[in-house]
Amino acid sequence: MEKIAVITSGGDAPGMNACIRAIVMTADQNDLEVIGFGHGYRGIVEDLNQPLRPNDMRLVSQRGGTILLSSRFPEFKQDKIAKQAATVLDQHGVGALIVIGGDGSFRGASHLARFWQGQIIGIPGTIDNDLAGTDTTIGFATAVDTAMEAIDRIRETAEAMARVFLIEVMGRHAGFIGLHAAIAGSAEAMLVPELEPQPKLADLADNIRRARKAYPDSSYIIVVSENLWPGGIDELSRALGQATGVTCHAAPLGHIQRGGRPNAQDRILSMQLGQSAVHAILDGSRTVMIGIEQGHVVQVPLHLTFQRDKPLDQRLVDLQLGLQQINFASNDA
Ligand code: ADP
Repeated sequence: MEKIAVITSGGDAPGMNACIRAIVMTADQNDLEVIGFGHGYRGIVEDLNQPLRPNDMRLVSQRGGTILLSSRFPEFKQDKIAKQAATVLDQHGVGALIVIGGDGSFRGASHLARFWQGQIIGIPGTIDNDLAGTDTTIGFATAVDTAMEAIDRIRETAEAMARVFLIEVMGRHAGFIGLHAAIAGSAEAMLVPELEPQPKLADLADNIRRARKAYPDSSYIIVVSENLWPGGIDELSRALGQATGVTCHAAPLGHIQRGGRPNAQDRILSMQLGQSAVHAILDGSRTVMIGIEQGHVVQVPLHLTFQRDKPLDQRLVDLQLGLQQINFASNDA
């Protein structure tokens, strides 16, 4: 096996480029040629290939986004399209494909494995951190940093005007960014999908009212995961405003959480996983994800990464829930 291919697929995440660099450098040291296909699975099907050489990797790992570009390509679910991708990979003499992406991308990789005999290695690249089998994913730490910085900024202006803010963070259907950003941003409340039971609107409103009464000059920040509230954060802000009589401002952070230079933690993780992926190929691994558990690189069967839900760290949930409790007793009328 002399040639490997790389794609970045699905939602881009800061650190993907550092991962590509590590793959290319490690492959070069082991006399493997690397080609990249642009735009994820679509690029394989349409044969949008480019050579990736060590010299191309200068000034790459510092950049957010992905130099290989990404895409959503639902057509890949069709057998005939996946077969077409297998044909293109064979035409290039590719022996192994590395897919940097999230759970959708790994579903795609498992689908491709039905039609293609080469080795397929997944690397967890998603800001959402919602893949089982790995403690963290490429881009998550940077996204949390970005959300925290945004919360800090909103906190300053909210504090100046004693305002209530609902700050919506990403996470698709997982609360990892929400939990970590809530703790780091010292949020007064947190709404993430994993909470059991979910806080009721009346409880949230009651808490805001009591906080306003006890600390009328203070800001109040609720971190809310996207896709959580029917009608979205605007609707929730409106409902809370109506219930409390206090204007509640909605601040969706949106795609700024996806962009930006990867932080040191994400660059180091990306390079570790990228190098290990090439070593895994040389060792003959197939259809696995390279993850990290308690500082150790691990290999996990690809299908196990998306068939199981990854729970939040309960110790961190308890930390946030404990810290956001306000003792109103002394101020209560
Ligand atoms: P992410 O990898 O970030 O979760 P998506 O869910 O958009 O992002 O998935 C990325 C791509 O993976 C999709 O655009 C599609 O090409 C492919 N994909 C996702 N799910 C499947 C599936 N069940 N079968 C085949 N391909 C899939």
